Amino acid sequence: MMIKSLIPAAALVFSASLLSASQAACPPGLTQEDIVPPTDKSRTFIRLGAGEFGSARGSKTHTGVDILTRASYPDREAYAVYALGAGTVAYAKFNGVTLDDGFGNTIVVDHGNDCYSMYAHLASDPFTPMNDESSALLMSKGQTVAKGELIGYFVDQTVGVHSTGNAMRTAAGARWQTHFELWHAPSGRSGATLKAIYGEEANRTDPTSTLLSLGYKIEDIAQ
Ligand SMILES: [Zn+2]
Repeated sequence: MMIKSLIPAAALVFSASLLSASQAACPPGLTQEDIVPPTDKSRTFIRLGAGEFGSARGSKTHTGVDILTRASYPDREAYAVYALGAGTVAYAKFNGVTLDDGFGNTIVVDHGNDCYSMYAHLASDPFTPMNDESSALLMSKGQTVAKGELIGYFVDQTVGVHSTGNAMRTAAGARWQTHFELWHAPSGRSGATLKAIYGEEANRTDPTSTLLSLGYKIEDIAQ
């Protein structure tokens, strides 16, 4: 009797863990098999506090997470940004420098299943000093991307530049980063503005659990 009563309990735990694994990915339709880390997770991390989802940005709140490194590496892969999953580029544009729309070079990928990922502060090269406007995008709107395909770089600050847009210019040591978002909005959208795609602010969801499920850590760089 004891053994019989344990079997359903074990089965319940197993199915619950499968469910949470599928729900941890980009909501609602993507599974863990559909996604890969959007950067080198062994050398990048989510910045604690100011880099977290929902943290205060003056009168605004942070609508994604900042993925960054604080060390300088000789290889480009340390700064590479990859597509979270397969999809179509819905937005590829320079999004400005100011705090209002300061995402710099920005890519949005439509993954289907009402899921979009967004990558900001991108550069075409991690080591070449350049102005925001002269840093070319590696992708263009309408292009198909594969899971894990290179879509841009953030920048090694030691070459004397910052990542494009307002990538924490005032916080020394925190500038080499990409800003990552997940959106839950109807698939098939594209437009001249980010808002034309995400529609409502509430469609921007917290990507932290998805990134943690992919092996990222959250670290404090304040000290
Ligand atoms: Zn950010």
